[in-house]
Amino acid sequence: MGRYTGPVCRLCRRERQKLFLKGKRCLTEKCALSVRNYPPGRKSRFVRKLSGYGIRLREKQKARRIYGLMEKQFGLLFKKAERMKGVTGVNLLQLLERRLDNVVFRFGFAASRPQARQLVRHGHFLVNGKKVDIPSYSVEVGDEIELRQKSRGLNVVKEGFEAAAEGEGPAWLEFNESELKGKVLRFPAREEMPPIREQSIVELYSK
Ligand code: SF4
Repeated sequence: MGRYTGPVCRLCRRERQKLFLKGKRCLTEKCALSVRNYPPGRKSRFVRKLSGYGIRLREKQKARRIYGLMEKQFGLLFKKAERMKGVTGVNLLQLLERRLDNVVFRFGFAASRPQARQLVRHGHFLVNGKKVDIPSYSVEVGDEIELRQKSRGLNVVKEGFEAAAEGEGPAWLEFNESELKGKVLRFPAREEMPPIREQSIVELYSK
């Protein structure tokens, strides 16, 4: 299945949770969840009780949608997390957070992860001095991520910084605002990652 290209607010409504896919709009009263806090679809106002499988599936879909991964990509990442030392669920969340598009978003270069992905794809960033245009690139401790000189006047970047100014950046990243450059100090701890019930995802894939 290809990447979802429909209205992204539907995805938040489906999960009944803000997934922050639209940048600044997500922080305003125009957020679709503020207006219609029920799942999309004709009969959606009737709350259905989810089965155990349904709960696990929804948690996986939520994680996949927050980071904008396709089903196959997500499955491959899960297998990678399983092969790593440590707790599979936490490994999975760390691998998601270490994606270059997510790190670019966390630094505040973009107002949302979809915008960050597009900026990376268009080759606006250097990692340790080399151009990297792969959103799924997994950053390592000590990596330096920099906005290229020729990209510094982009409106989308200015908007990203405006949105990011409303919150603090995560402690596992260090950002140098004057040089528009950031560094990965360490991998994120569990409490620094989104509130996803990773155990439900592990149970879903373990069936
Ligand atoms: Fe989700 Fe943002 Fe749309 Fe609100 S505005 S429903 S948080 S994508």
